[in-house]
Amino acid sequence: MATFDVRFLGCKVSHLDAQDVRARLLADGHSERADGDVAVVNTCCVTHEALSKSRQAAARAARTHRRVYVTGCAANLEGGALSGLPQNVIVVRRRSEDTPAAVAADLGALGCINDDARLERVRAFVKIQDGCSFSCNFCVIPLVRGGTRSRTAGAVLREIRRRVDQGHSEIVLTGINLGCFRDREAGYTLARLVREAGETAGLARLRLSSIEINHVNDELVAALRETPTVARHLHVPLQSGDDDVLRAMGRRYSVATYLRRLEELVDFNLTADVIVGFPAEDERAFANTLRVVQEARLTKLHVFPYSPRPGTKTAAEDPVPAAVKRERSRRLREHSLVACLEHWRAKLGREDVVLVDRPGRGYGDDYSPWLVRGDVGQLVCVRAAAVTDEGILAA
Ligand code: SF4
Repeated sequence: MATFDVRFLGCKVSHLDAQDVRARLLADGHSERADGDVAVVNTCCVTHEALSKSRQAAARAARTHRRVYVTGCAANLEGGALSGLPQNVIVVRRRSEDTPAAVAADLGALGCINDDARLERVRAFVKIQDGCSFSCNFCVIPLVRGGTRSRTAGAVLREIRRRVDQGHSEIVLTGINLGCFRDREAGYTLARLVREAGETAGLARLRLSSIEINHVNDELVAALRETPTVARHLHVPLQSGDDDVLRAMGRRYSVATYLRRLEELVDFNLTADVIVGFPAEDERAFANTLRVVQEARLTKLHVFPYSPRPGTKTAAEDPVPAAVKRERSRRLREHSLVACLEHWRAKLGREDVVLVDRPGRGYGDDYSPWLVRGDVGQLVCVRAAAVTDEGILAA
């Protein structure tokens, strides 16, 4: 039997992929220990910084573990991004769905003794789709994860049932490009899946991890609105608030479309990703982004300074100086904090149901952060008494 530990870098999909490897190794009879013989590092390469952190994590793990499996996006990047690591590091270049079996086969199975490990403490992330066929000009994801493919609706709904039975009160539907989910044979779109997943008995809250604006259509909006368990939160990547930059990025929407489609969701807490310092972004374009994040009433912004990724259409372009990217990131993050505070203040005196996910902290119905008392995993009904930079203080 091997002892192992699994870590991940990057997004929720990377987290889920790491959990899949973890579940598979547990099912094979290996046991988890912080200082195990074997480490699995599920990596990210979405920015230059993410890639170098992934490399460092693999090198660090190689010093403290007998064997290290490096999996995930960076492992699939062309061009030897992870070459030159110590000899006890094995780079697993496989699609996400084939990775657990590849690691397990290399490690050797012991027989199934624990085939339904409870993987997360509070909310459970359920992958419904992987890959992306959009090919935005800056994005390496389609190159390392492949085109879009979906799980069957039946498999997703069964997993949700199982996770709720394990005690998870919140489910997050997760994928690389969630709106591409389709189960044509069974006749499911994302909207239908949301409606049926939301009806799972015992489920308190259902969320989407992120959705492209192209997929925010009437059918989906109706499903989000009419399913009582759906959280009033939506993360809709903006990337830029300037039409010229959006075109140069190869995004398939205009600012007007972005704003129009979110009009139906004014009572939702809307959050977004924004890239700063994209090659076509001058001061005027950046000012447009600042204007649009306000107009769209976005609160939390995940700001990414642009870094060229190998193999992408803009791989050779990076004219915006690093200091300018830092300054634009700072301005957007500052705006984001102000917008969050304003959103939280509007809740003062009102009640919310908060899922406690760490000691002293949790998230309300629209994914606003709260500072609360209560046991981890518990849903508590609270009233907003004050607001701090970290969230809403419960009375
Ligand atoms: S939609 Fe664009 S940014 Fe998002 S994963 Fe696909 S190619 Fe990348």
